Amino acid sequence: MLNIVLFGPPGAGKGTQAEKLITKYNLAHLSTGDIFRTNIKGETKLGVLAKSYMDEGDLVPDEVTIKMLEAEVNKNPESTGFIFDGFPRTTTQAEALADFLKGKGTEITIMLALEVVEEELIKRLLSRGRDSGRADDQDENIITNRIKVYNEQTAVVADFYNAQNKFQKVDGVGSIDEIFDRLCSVIDTQQVSL
Ligand code: AMP
Repeated sequence: MLNIVLFGPPGAGKGTQAEKLITKYNLAHLSTGDIFRTNIKGETKLGVLAKSYMDEGDLVPDEVTIKMLEAEVNKNPESTGFIFDGFPRTTTQAEALADFLKGKGTEITIMLALEVVEEELIKRLLSRGRDSGRADDQDENIITNRIKVYNEQTAVVADFYNAQNKFQKVDGVGSIDEIFDRLCSVIDTQQVSL
């Protein structure tokens, strides 16, 4: 299996690149943000809970997020691999994912971390907010809090994968195709060495 953690701050381009990667490598795309947004639209209990955190730019509690993610993986038993987009966002989530995948006889192959400077992130998020109507992309205070939460709680997750020699930085600035090519060349090199 090829299991990729696509990592990076909000606005780094994870969703855009994940869509291209799943086609090329025949993977299932699991975006926890997208799953929460679907639940919010469907007005489920999980959606109501998640919304209260997402509206502030805070993380949804680990327990709920981990349970939801595991259920989504279990919905794809035939998959030959996954792209985890927006998950794990805490070390607790990373540890839970490792245990869960181990139980299935697999593991994370690689974490690809898209690097983009903060100024560019804010510009991209505000532009996405205008185009998509995503509430958390329209308010600069919420955006600033999401970046702060990323720096304080999420960035450290890179250390977890770095300690296992699974961490790779990728320059996240350039055209969509340029960034995609950079990601593919890291994946292809990794696969050859497996
Ligand atoms: P995203 O679409 O990845 O930018 O996520 C949007 C929002 O969903 C985040 O700001 C969090 O409130 C919530 N969220 C998404 N993924 C996670 C996660 N792995 N852990 C906790 N909260 C999350």
